[in-house]
Amino acid sequence: MKKNISKILIANRGEIAVRIMRTCRELGIKTVAVYSVVDATSPHVQMADEAFLLGPAPSRESYLRWERVLEVAKISGADAIHPGYGFLSENPDFAERVSESGMIFIGPRAESMRAMGDKTEARRLMQKANVPVVPGTPPIQSIGEVKSFIEINHYPVLIKAAAGGGGKGMRVVRSDKELAPAFAAAQSEAASSFGDGRVYVEKYLDSPRHVEFQILADKLGSVVHLGERECTIQRRHQKIIEESPSVFLDEALRKKMGKMAIDAARACVYENAGTVEFLMDSQKSFYFLEMNTRLQVEHPVTELRTGIDLVAQQILIASGNPLRFSQDDIAFRGHALECRISAEDPANDFLPSTGTIVHLKPPGGIGIRDDRGIDEGGEVSVFYDPMIAKLIAWGESRNETINRMLRALREYEVLGVKTNIPLCEFVLTHPDFHAGEFDTHFLQKHFTANSLSLPDEDAMRVAAIVAALTTNGCQEDQNGSAANWTKWKKQRNDLLRDA
Ligand code: ADP
Repeated sequence: MKKNISKILIANRGEIAVRIMRTCRELGIKTVAVYSVVDATSPHVQMADEAFLLGPAPSRESYLRWERVLEVAKISGADAIHPGYGFLSENPDFAERVSESGMIFIGPRAESMRAMGDKTEARRLMQKANVPVVPGTPPIQSIGEVKSFIEINHYPVLIKAAAGGGGKGMRVVRSDKELAPAFAAAQSEAASSFGDGRVYVEKYLDSPRHVEFQILADKLGSVVHLGERECTIQRRHQKIIEESPSVFLDEALRKKMGKMAIDAARACVYENAGTVEFLMDSQKSFYFLEMNTRLQVEHPVTELRTGIDLVAQQILIASGNPLRFSQDDIAFRGHALECRISAEDPANDFLPSTGTIVHLKPPGGIGIRDDRGIDEGGEVSVFYDPMIAKLIAWGESRNETINRMLRALREYEVLGVKTNIPLCEFVLTHPDFHAGEFDTHFLQKHFTANSLSLPDEDAMRVAAIVAALTTNGCQEDQNGSAANWTKWKKQRNDLLRDA
């Protein structure tokens, strides 16, 4: 049955809330923002038609408070809730409560979320559907069970949280000596991060690549895939750079994996947008890793290659519309690449860098998209993810796209917090990245703090910005306080030291 959606509450913050609101505006749908006290002046609040305070800064007291989110949705008269990614996006109880309250949850059915949220249950379903999975076990209680698995499959193995996500509760084990401490650590991290201490074991693939497929499924049984994204460049099992197409796949393999991804979605009677993740070994064998039952951070890579607005599709599907295209209608063009720009210091063991963004000038020009949820003057706080923007580039070829991304990274001006932009430049200029020869250990193998040298050109750019800041500081000082001048001077000195 089709239902009309005319007002959506976006239960999220930052870039993804802004990104969802942009599509809502295009579709003539009103938007409701929610925010915590530290986000009161954030771009997503300014962009929405209405905005409601949820509570204090910690997520548990604001963005995760789903009773309050539901209350706000009712007060505002929203007829649907989009959860974005993170926060409440993969909470089946929340999805159910949204539907029970007479609103539309823009995402899959709670049952699919439940099945895929438990990695061991997901593996069981996939095996039933003949989708290959990494050799592994159901949930286990004892070290003895891990040992039995190792007898057959040998070291290295990976102990993983059944309810895992975000790379948490995962431990690689390479010898008997490491086993007991790793088992205990994975169990306790799983319990503290997910309130569910169940763990299981998988064979640890030594040089894997991460390749995932974007899925769209309507409520009437049509399922299509929108191609792959390669997300192999990671740090501590967290993605940093994503691209499509993957240089590792040929057309035959792409077709085979795409079909498996569709089978995986069908196996859990999936609806809406989702992502089926695979690990691949050096022999190009592929194994189901997990299914993410939400919009992914890296979804713009797919949007740039297909021209399909995934958020618009999510809304259309959630309203009960059939997909307007079949698999053969989906056309792929060129190459797309995304860099996650985070406030952290790659020269200092990726220490999170918090503070005010005193200056921000994003890049632009042909083939460049900057998805961002913070502006100049905004505060990067300790409370949320340190990602400040996603920079996405499109080009006719991989080479053109890499060069375009490098140009954009070098144009990106962010002052006040440290960013991982130099790290992204390091990856994109590395010969192995260019050659397409990398696995998930690329950074571990190639990157040290010494890899970051600031070229002369960059030093000059920083110096120019410093000069501009200093001039502003002087002007402010004439009309303002001595405190302003001290602040600018400190920033200038910090910058000169770092340059
Ligand atoms: P999470 O849900 O916590 O993000 P995933 O299961 O999606 O965890 O895995 C995240 C990353 O961890 C993968 O992209 C890969 O780099 C690594 N990983 C996970 N399982 C394995 C495995 N069996 N062998 C090697 N690497 C793995």
